Amino acid sequence: METTILVVEDEEKIGRFLELELLHEGYRVIKAVNGRDGLEKAESGQADLMVLDVMLPELNGFEVLRRLRKNSDMPVIMLTARDEVMDKVAGLDGGADDYMTKPFAIEELLARIRLALKKRVGVSSMQEDKNLLTCGSLTLDAARYEVRYDGNLVELTHREFELLRVLLENKNIVISRDSLLEKVCGYDYMGETNIIDVYVRYLRSKLDDIYGVKLIHTVRGVGYCIKDEQ
Ligand code: CA
Repeated sequence: METTILVVEDEEKIGRFLELELLHEGYRVIKAVNGRDGLEKAESGQADLMVLDVMLPELNGFEVLRRLRKNSDMPVIMLTARDEVMDKVAGLDGGADDYMTKPFAIEELLARIRLALKKRVGVSSMQEDKNLLTCGSLTLDAARYEVRYDGNLVELTHREFELLRVLLENKNIVISRDSLLEKVCGYDYMGETNIIDVYVRYLRSKLDDIYGVKLIHTVRGVGYCIKDEQ
């Protein structure tokens, strides 16, 4: 399932930069360049999280947030200009989950997005056990959005995580590349068809290669399968 991020930012360069970085992380991106359009798109329910600039034409970020909060608890990360301390306070009081001061390091924003999404999953999951998938020493905790091997945290990108989740949900079952592509990238994915092979390679480099195990098996001409070590 793809996670969609709504970016509300009137500065074209920043908006474009955010879009490219988020796409690279495997998110879907919706953009708005003014507050009114941003609020409409946020209320449409298409996005899982909003990155919201404060200084916007038509409606400023605080006003967008205030109106949105009347009927939505979607996670919101505010972008404020440097030293606008009052903005930060107002943003958090107004129901923002987090804020970033411009200029910001993209890695930090991505980390905060992951955290806000994770918190979100945590809130909505009633049964934590159902969110725990395992294969030998490997555990994937969907509620915490966390993967561990032998207790050690494994850092994965969004798509690597989703791919691993699908493989674990179908442990010991071979899944075709097409099916993985649809589940991980969405049925309307139009990019490279070998993308799954690429992500499998990334996963292996972060799991199999580091821990000296063979978790993800290639079934030639068909697809992939994750298996318990025998
Ligand atoms: Ca702005």
